[in-house]
Amino acid sequence: MSTIQTDLSGQTAVITGSTSGIGAALADGLAASGANIILNGLGDADAIEALRADMAKRHGVEVRYHPANMLKPEEITAMVGFGHQEFGRLDILVNNAGIQHVEKIENFPDEKWDAIIAINLTSAFHSIKAVVPIMKAQGRGRIVNIASAHALVASPFKSAYVAAKHGIMGLTKTVALEVAEHGITVNAICPGYVRTPLVDGQIADTARARGISEEAVVRDVMLTAQPTKKFVEYDELVGLMLYLASDAGASCNGAAFPVEGGWTAA
Ligand code: NAD
Repeated sequence: MSTIQTDLSGQTAVITGSTSGIGAALADGLAASGANIILNGLGDADAIEALRADMAKRHGVEVRYHPANMLKPEEITAMVGFGHQEFGRLDILVNNAGIQHVEKIENFPDEKWDAIIAINLTSAFHSIKAVVPIMKAQGRGRIVNIASAHALVASPFKSAYVAAKHGIMGLTKTVALEVAEHGITVNAICPGYVRTPLVDGQIADTARARGISEEAVVRDVMLTAQPTKKFVEYDELVGLMLYLASDAGASCNGAAFPVEGGWTAA
């Protein structure tokens, strides 16, 4: 008889970049399963407080917010320490914060390259470095990096993003090997296109870079890559997140989980 259960009551999850889009959806899904949550991300203070209070009330869990900027290593370390201090344990780390910039390589701004590598890749190094000693002491932990289909394949005009996402796959595999005997798993979820604020911005940028209309970007660039011809839904990512966080996911380690309608099968 199966003994698997996905109740996360009493566990603590830190989700970077959870004030918007995929991160907010993952935080909500983890809270719905009983986990206490540390939200993080940029945005309007009143809107973040409303998100925090609503999540706590709807799911009957504790939800705190930490404003760490993913460009600043010392703030990332402080965020992990805050989560541990608030709840006495830290079970789940989701590295999700990310930005995008779409431009030809010869015009790609140096400062955009630096910011994308820092937020989409280096921030995960700092959060993982801070959380691993806590998880080792607990004898259990789950680290989930939100990579992308672009961790597995490339697209033109996204040099920094594709480099960072391929990089986080390397980080995922390396740390997975290092912590495997401590009850800790490290995996990457690789979504295809999800209709978030990040993607809405990208539609306009891609239209400019390719010299085509925004409708053509959605039809001929984004959904062309996705064989289902549909955007990925938040709950499809939440379902995988909960699987990886539960005991059912204990033997998944160092792996990439594509959720992109078959894009990388081509
Ligand atoms: P989004 O723009 O809706 O959310 C990004 C989050 O990151 C926000 O909460 C934002 O405040 C936070 N963030 C940005 N810069 C930050 C900083 N310096 N410090 C702290 N937080 C910061 O984007 P999204 O589409 O939900 O993307 C979330 C993740 O999913 C990213 O890593 C992205 O690369 C990845 N992803 C998105 C898609 C997609 O189609 N939307 C596909 C594949 C992968």
